[in-house]
Formats: sequence, structure tokens, C-alpha cells
Amino acid sequence: MFKNNLNLFKKLMFTGIFIAVAVLFYSCKSEGEKWTVAKKGEDFEIQESKGIGWTCEKCGKSDYAQELPAECPNCKGKVVKVSTYVKTQATITTNDQKLIRKLALTNPNALVRSSAISKLTDKNAIGEIAKKDTDVNVRLAALRKVTDQQLLFDIVMAESDFSIRNEAMRGLTDQKKLEEIARTATDEFVRSDAVRKITDQVVLKDLVINSDNVFTKSAAIERITDKTVLADIAATSTDINVCFDIINRLTDKNLLKDIARRNSDFVIRDSVKERLKTLEPNK
Ligand SMILES: [Zn+2]
Repeated sequence: MFKNNLNLFKKLMFTGIFIAVAVLFYSCKSEGEKWTVAKKGEDFEIQESKGIGWTCEKCGKSDYAQELPAECPNCKGKVVKVSTYVKTQATITTNDQKLIRKLALTNPNALVRSSAISKLTDKNAIGEIAKKDTDVNVRLAALRKVTDQQLLFDIVMAESDFSIRNEAMRGLTDQKKLEEIARTATDEFVRSDAVRKITDQVVLKDLVINSDNVFTKSAAIERITDKTVLADIAATSTDINVCFDIINRLTDKNLLKDIARRNSDFVIRDSVKERLKTLEPNK
């Protein structure tokens, strides 16, 4: 009785592991896959690759393969199959852009849509998909091909999905647009992400001084390359967090002493003293 329960428990556990592994593996890629056609559409094919997960009874090593290996490559121990998996991919079999466009916009299978996007050249259609597809991965596939700065800007400003926003941010290079995001986006993390792509030192300095957000300020401080500019901000700022941030970044003793000389706040002066102590060589 007890043994039966134990067996049932084992079975359930393996089923659980199988599902977790199958989901995990679905997103991985490996070399030497054997793909077979699972579905043939008019202008596309859906292919499958099947395999197993195995584990070594001796050393505990586990891996995936298309077939169960004869022995553990690690210790030559006995290996057992613990799961199976099926991977799926879609291939577009037409070169007609009209048909590819249709597949990308309307095929019910997200894999087919993603695959079609990789062959699609119509920028408007790609932009529409990036904005509106119901599947996040399809949108990401489209976004990777978008270079239109206004569209990327709109998506960064309006999007709530983190991965979509990140992908749009990755494509943004227009400094004016990045500056606008850094100043006006409602999400503070979006703002600091934009700051990390700004190179204009004048804009960065202004953000440190005038932004109302601590993350934006900190990200801007990180991007300012001229240490005398940083020291100058700390010497004249009343924002203690900004001053601490800058003081802890500076290593030039003369610049630090200059901050202590010019900033009348004793907390800042003490902080400079502490910083200078940490910069003394160890005796
Ligand atoms: Zn082994």
C-alpha cells in the first residue's frame, strides 16, 4: 500500500518535472537538431524536433539529447530517460512579399507570424505588428526590425510591458527623443534607462541639477565624464544625495577639497573628509 503510494508520488513528480522541462526547453536552441515537418501550410511549414531529457544514476548529471546516450559521458554510468520534449519552429516557404505580409499580419499561429516578420520588408506592416500584435514574442520580433525613432519613442512612452519597452528603448538613438523621455516619462525606471543612452554632457548636467527624480539624477551623474563638471555640481548643490553620490565617485583629492571649500553645508564637508580618508594609501 505504502509502496504504491510512493510509486504514484514518483510518477506525479516526474510528470511535473517533465512539464517544467518541456516548457523550459521550448525556448532553448541546440546544434544538430533533426526537424520533421509537422504541418504543411500553403506558404509555410511547422516543424518539430523531439528528444528526451536524461539523468545519470551514478553521478546525477542530466542533459537533453535526441536519443538516450549509451552511457554517461561524464562517468560512464547508467543513464535513464526522465522526460521527453517537443520543440516547434516555423519556416516561411514563399518569397512573395505580399504573401509574407499576409502571414505576418493574420496567421493564427504566433510562430508563423514571427517567422514571417523575419522575411518581411514592409516597414509600415512591421510597425503595425510591433504596436498591435497580441503575442509579446511576435511584437518583439517586429520591434527588432523597427528603426523609426518616432515609433520607438511612442512605444517606450505608452507601453506597460517591460520586455517590449526595453526592446523599443534598445533601438532608440535620437538624443532629443531620449532627452524628452528622461524628462517626462511617468515611469522613473524608463526615465533612467533613457538617461543611460544620453551622451550630451550639457543635458546630463541639467538633469542632475533640475530633475525631480533621484534615479534620473543618479543615472545622469554616472554618465558625466568630466570630473570637474561633477565637482562643480557638488560644490554648489544643496541636494545632499547628489553631493554624496558625486563625492563617492570622485578620486581626485584636489577636486574633493574644492567641494569642501565651496559648499557651506557641514554635512557635505564632513562627507568629503571621510572620502579623503578612504583615499589615503594604506599604511
Ligand atoms: Zn554520470
